[in-house]
Amino acid sequence: MTYSYLSHLYCPKCQETYKASEPQHLCTCGSPLLVSYDLDKLKEVWSPEHLKERTPDLWRYHELLPLQDPTYKTSLGEGMSPLIPLPTLQTDMNIRKLHMKDEGIIPTGSFKARGAAVGVSKAKELGVKELAMPTNGNAGAAWSLYASRASMESTIVMPVDAPKITRNECALSGANLFLVDGLISDAGKIVAEAVEKSGLYDVSTLKEPYRIEGKKTMGLEIAEQLGWNVPDVILYPTGGGVGLIGIHKALKELQELGWISKDRMPRLVAVQSKGCAPIVEAWQQGQRESSFWKNSETIAFGINVPKAIGDFLVLDALYDTHGCAVAVSDYELLEEQKGIAQKEGAFVCPEGAAAFAAARKLRAENWITAEDEVVVLNTGAGIKYPDTVHIEIPVLQPGDSLQTKKTIR
Ligand SMILES: *Cc1c(COP(=O)(O)O)cnc(C)c1O
Ligand SMILES: [Zn+2]
Repeated sequence: MTYSYLSHLYCPKCQETYKASEPQHLCTCGSPLLVSYDLDKLKEVWSPEHLKERTPDLWRYHELLPLQDPTYKTSLGEGMSPLIPLPTLQTDMNIRKLHMKDEGIIPTGSFKARGAAVGVSKAKELGVKELAMPTNGNAGAAWSLYASRASMESTIVMPVDAPKITRNECALSGANLFLVDGLISDAGKIVAEAVEKSGLYDVSTLKEPYRIEGKKTMGLEIAEQLGWNVPDVILYPTGGGVGLIGIHKALKELQELGWISKDRMPRLVAVQSKGCAPIVEAWQQGQRESSFWKNSETIAFGINVPKAIGDFLVLDALYDTHGCAVAVSDYELLEEQKGIAQKEGAFVCPEGAAAFAAARKLRAENWITAEDEVVVLNTGAGIKYPDTVHIEIPVLQPGDSLQTKKTIR
């Protein structure tokens, strides 16, 4: 059986098509490219039965992934993260069913590993030797480590105040790492110039078409884990929006294959921070594209993206599914992060906490009803962000007894 049913690349803006057999970046019109599969043919030969014997990682869906020769598969075991029920939190929020898709346990500690695994594998297959990218931290960590796994070189540029651990991950992987005293958009400009001058393979968000394919496996897994059903609502902390675009694409493809019903799509929710909410602003104004968000600032670093190149695809997904976009403050997300640890024992990342805070908010407005089944993406591990937790712990002297003093946070 054919390993991948990859057919070609196409532009969602001007419909131009491109060959997938050579490296491609943006369309000549400036839009990101999307991957197309021969779903009619695949439908004839593939069914959920085939998955039963496969390994519990994202490569179980290889027919629907772009890698054509499994020799180039670059894997650290990513994918098939648990879909965890949250009984205490769901009662607290008064939602019928609340699940967390927990990406915190994936290699490199964030769901960025999915995009890196598929993107690096495909780059290797295309003969790439050295890749380059700007990052807010987690993507750089994932891509540089997966590049090492594939014996490829990487050049990474990140803001000086990106989470330190991600800096260490890149450095330890042997990447050519640079810090920029600015935002990810500043890092992006520097990388773009280097790509132009030295011909590095540009893997900036959506400037290569395969990262989306890795991230879309979150959507495939949610459907499989719910027995080829979809929930009513999926909330996703949105920066570049790749994960949300990917989940939408995955569910559309499953509908085409007839694996899930064509009558039901979850309402997709893009969650942002109040300090950087260009998608929310565009959605509120009914726009199809966002505007650059000036002086963006949030402790949820992964969603600090002032202008996403795929913003129109994110907004399309929201309009198409009758979803919405919502912003929460850093204070709200930190409170939620604490609450989740106390109620459910999960140390989620600030971005994931933002999505939970948004669920609470939308439930309060009755946009999420008490009858809904809701899935929240926790996109990374809380332990990657030790500095977001501020605590004061009583210090005892040897021989002291435990007093009524309590840890304050
Ligand atoms: C990158 C990142 C996001 C945002 O992902 P996009 O798909 O680019 O919107 C959310 N959470 C974490 C932890 C991230 O690293
Ligand atoms: Zn185009």
